[in-house]
Amino acid sequence: MECDRCGADAVMHAAYSGAHLCEEHFRESLERRVRRRVRRDDLVPKDASPANPQTWVIGLSGGKDSIVLTQVLSETFAEDPRIELVCLTIHEGIEGYRDRSLEACLDLTETLDLRHEVVSYEDEFGVRMDDVVEDDPENMAACAYCGVFRRDVLSRYAEAFDADLLLTGHNLDDEAQSALMNFLEGDVSQMAKHFEASLGPLSERRAQEEFVPRAKPLRDVPEKEVALYAHLRDLPAHISECPHSSEAYRGEIQRLLYGLEENHPGTRHSILSGYEELARLATDRYHGDDHAELRECVECGSTTTQERCRKCSLLESIRAV
Ligand code: SF4
Repeated sequence: MECDRCGADAVMHAAYSGAHLCEEHFRESLERRVRRRVRRDDLVPKDASPANPQTWVIGLSGGKDSIVLTQVLSETFAEDPRIELVCLTIHEGIEGYRDRSLEACLDLTETLDLRHEVVSYEDEFGVRMDDVVEDDPENMAACAYCGVFRRDVLSRYAEAFDADLLLTGHNLDDEAQSALMNFLEGDVSQMAKHFEASLGPLSERRAQEEFVPRAKPLRDVPEKEVALYAHLRDLPAHISECPHSSEAYRGEIQRLLYGLEENHPGTRHSILSGYEELARLATDRYHGDDHAELRECVECGSTTTQERCRKCSLLESIRAV
C-alpha cells in the first residue's frame, strides 16, 4: 500500500478517513491533529506573552499516551516563551510496574530538558496501592481508590505549581469509552461533570477559580495511532498493564467499540461529537436542578460537595484496618 501524499510505503491505514500514510506523513498528521486541538480549545489564551507565561502541568505516567503528548507539546512549544511545561509523575506504590514507567518518564524529561516532579501516595497519604488492594476496606475495585487519590494529587500539585492548565494524555478511545459508559449507565450528572471538567469551553472553565482547568489535546487521536507514533519515534514508552487493573466494565466497552469501529469506521468520532452536545445539555439541566454547593473538606480543605471529601473518607477506612 502506498502513501496517498507521496507514494512511499504506507505504515498505516485509517479506515475512518480512508487515508494511507507513510511514516513521515503519519507523524505530521498526528502532530497536526494535536496542534489543531490546542488551537480549537483555545489552550493558549490571547493574553499569554513572554511577560505573562502560562504554566502547563502534564500528568506524565510513562505510558504511551502521556509520553507522546509530552513529546509533541515539547516540540510544539520548544521555542515559545509563552508556555512552560512541567511534568508530574505519580508513584502509586505498585511494586515493579510504576518503577519501570518512572524510568521512561525520567528518560524522556531528561532528553527534552523538561522540569519533572515525582510524588507518591506513600509520601502524600501514607498508603501504597499494593497494601490498599490487599486490605480493600471498602470492598471495591483498586482503580476506584487509585482514581480518587490520583485526582487529588494532580489537582493539588497543579495548584501548587500555579498551573494555568492540567493536561492529560486521554486519547480518542479513552474518551469514546467514557462517553459510552456514562450514557449506558444513564449517569446524567457524570456527563455534566465530564463536560465541566474537560470538554466545555475553556473560557468558562478558566472563570471557575476552584479548579485548575483540564485539557486533553490527544482526544482526536485513536489509541493505536498513539502507539504507532511512539513506536516509530522510538519514544521510551512503558507498555505493560498495571497488575491491579480492575476496570472490567471499561474492558467490555473497549471490545464493543473495537467491533463497532471495525464494521462502521468513524463510530468513535461520532460518539464523541454527539456526546459533547448531550453533555452540554446535561450540564444545563444539572445546574438548573440539583447542582450541589461546593465547599471545603473539613479534613484537608480541598473543594468538595460533601462535609468530608471522598479521598479523606477513603483514607479513614484504610487507616482503620
Ligand atoms: Fe491505579 Fe487502576 Fe491505573 Fe493501576 S490501573 S494505576 S490501580 S488506576
